[in-house]
Amino acid sequence: MEPWLHAAAHDAALMSDFETVCSFGGRMSGSGQDDAAMEWAMGRARQAASTAQLLTVPYDGWRCELASLDLLGAAPQPLACRPLLRSASTPAGGLELEVVDAGAGSPDDFARLGAAARGRAVLVRHEYPFTGDHVHRRRKYDMAVEAGAAAFLIANNVPGQGVLSGSSGRPRGGAGIPAMYIDHEGGAALAAACAAGAARVRIVARGSEIDDARASVGIAEIAGGRDGVIVISAHMDGHDLGTSALDNGTGVAAALAAFRALSARVGPDTPSLRLCFFCAEEWALTGSARYLADLAPAERARIKLDINLDTVAGDAALTALISDFPALAPMVQAAAEASGVPVATWLPLMPNSDHANFARHGIPALRLLAGFGKPESRVNNILSAGDVPGIIEEAELRQAVAVTCAMADAALRMSDAQLESLASR
Ligand SMILES: [Zn+2]
Repeated sequence: MEPWLHAAAHDAALMSDFETVCSFGGRMSGSGQDDAAMEWAMGRARQAASTAQLLTVPYDGWRCELASLDLLGAAPQPLACRPLLRSASTPAGGLELEVVDAGAGSPDDFARLGAAARGRAVLVRHEYPFTGDHVHRRRKYDMAVEAGAAAFLIANNVPGQGVLSGSSGRPRGGAGIPAMYIDHEGGAALAAACAAGAARVRIVARGSEIDDARASVGIAEIAGGRDGVIVISAHMDGHDLGTSALDNGTGVAAALAAFRALSARVGPDTPSLRLCFFCAEEWALTGSARYLADLAPAERARIKLDINLDTVAGDAALTALISDFPALAPMVQAAAEASGVPVATWLPLMPNSDHANFARHGIPALRLLAGFGKPESRVNNILSAGDVPGIIEEAELRQAVAVTCAMADAALRMSDAQLESLASR
């Protein structure tokens, strides 16, 4: 390994930065913790940057006011629940509904259910989000809405892990149905009641819109002498059950370390290097979507590559999700060899982090991710109260920094023609 890359992987501030990001709390957008963490991170980035700006973009803010779920019977049995972000509200007294078990909630499950979903609460299961055939929560929710369901209940697939937190993706003013995470045990109780003949629940959910909500976007740049920009991005916001250590304290800390190490690699013969921190990623990727949409087309066209760091530790196995840009695969492999860190690639676009918004604008984009295809890894603490710093191993975070530096450095050293060819499909 080249000495600068070795030094990058041994960055002295990496672990303290990681601990500091997590110390702000779960950093849920709207809590203020995300903005405080952003301000701190931009202070760190400014030490290496030629320019830095802290922007805000609008997003559909929302907060939960009240939620409960009871399995009705001789005596109502309260079940642990947590509304999805931007869940529709029930009428004030709640809704009393029959439950129908839709299994995993795959397209086949909904096809099998047919009209039986109509007017009922549909029960589906959460899945480990990082596999090739995973069906995203928001897709399951959308299928339930299309099937005419009156409510959506999604049970954690991991026993003993409690409820999870996630977004429904319902836009402001959009139609929708009350939607909640429940824990594994609650899901089992509902499934047993369904199997025994009938399960009825009372659901209460009340949320309120936060008007004029804004999400922070932090941009720091090291100016190169050539036109063109290589982006390293990571989302700052998270969920508030744990401290969003995996998702995405790891990405933020690794991005800061890589930015520091790469500052000496940017010069008159290279494009510029830009660090982008986004909030409201957990709100259907809104922060980066708005940032990119607001750039003038010529400014957007200057971006030649996005390396998005999201959940880059929690398992030793790293994968680059290369968003239908096959030309990124050899670049990733070369970076893996340069850093001595094996990295797999996965070609199909997975719209599960900010890289997807870059890709939608035709910008070559990848997400570096730990634990792809490994549901038994520590990455399965994602979205749960178990997403805390103790589940991260230092060596995992250090190898993510090394491979990030190697990828970005390879891009900085490419000719304009080579950079353009990354976008060929
Ligand atoms: Zn994430």
